[in-house]
Amino acid sequence: MPAQQKPTVRRKNSILSLSKDESPQLRSALLAWHRRNALRAPWRETGDPYHVLVAAVMAQQTQMSRVLLKFDEFISAFPTIERLAGARTARVLRVWEGMGYNLRALRLHRAAKLIVRMGGFPRTATELEQIEGIGPFTAAIISSFAFREPAAAVDTNVRRVIARLSGDVDVTLTDRDVQPAADVLISRRAPARWNQAIMDLGGRVCVSRSPKCDVCPIARWCRSRAAFDKSPRKVAERRASYKPQPKFEGSRRYHRGRIVQALRELPEGRSLSPQQLGNKLGIDNIAELLDVLERDGLIRRLPIGRVRLP
Ligand code: SF4
Repeated sequence: MPAQQKPTVRRKNSILSLSKDESPQLRSALLAWHRRNALRAPWRETGDPYHVLVAAVMAQQTQMSRVLLKFDEFISAFPTIERLAGARTARVLRVWEGMGYNLRALRLHRAAKLIVRMGGFPRTATELEQIEGIGPFTAAIISSFAFREPAAAVDTNVRRVIARLSGDVDVTLTDRDVQPAADVLISRRAPARWNQAIMDLGGRVCVSRSPKCDVCPIARWCRSRAAFDKSPRKVAERRASYKPQPKFEGSRRYHRGRIVQALRELPEGRSLSPQQLGNKLGIDNIAELLDVLERDGLIRRLPIGRVRLP
């Protein structure tokens, strides 16, 4: 790491009370488990910061199986960050088709432009977090996977593992609450593998509804284990029914997605009038939705009033 770049330093552990000996033992047990159970993904093999950035943005609110399908297509279309930065927004949105949450494609595109203008990727999570569109999780996995910085990535899976390790059975702790413990636990020698291991454990063993404590490599140090042994389903389902999701179909986000999709399906450079779009999609009050989409940068209004992808 170049001398002028400061590594990311965060607060000390406050929710786990592992002894001096226990932390390395837990680390070894999880890394050993991961050697046998690692989820294989192209961006994990290459450690290329651009690949990691694309995968991290895709993985937000999207299942890994869909990310794995779209990732290769996206990288074939934009093999380098320079190619992505230089692409037209409409093309990026077209290649993004099927992933949903189109704003993520815009954020990824903007981040790519900024990184290219900066002359390349910064190497620490602290610096990466300064880039619009890159949050703490994405910054930590880029700096750890690509530059070996011991920056702990906290996503839903990691939060669940650490919360339960601390005895928070129902996972009421926030990302901020668990970050200091994550920072203490991370392996300094193998930060990328550690981040992958704890994410994979949360995705496959310490799952939300029925954690598989009997095969968990770190059960020995877990303060929630006893609660799941006593009443596995009752305890786990309390959390699962915690927040009902609002209905997606018919929502404003649903209709905004349909508008972008309709414009995506037009031949390149073609446009539609708001009325044509409204009739095609059966949306009465389309003007308000178009205003929001234009503000977000997902559509462009032409001087003649017609709309198309930007
Ligand atoms: S013992 Fe059970 S609750 Fe604790 S970390 Fe492992 S799977 Fe999660």
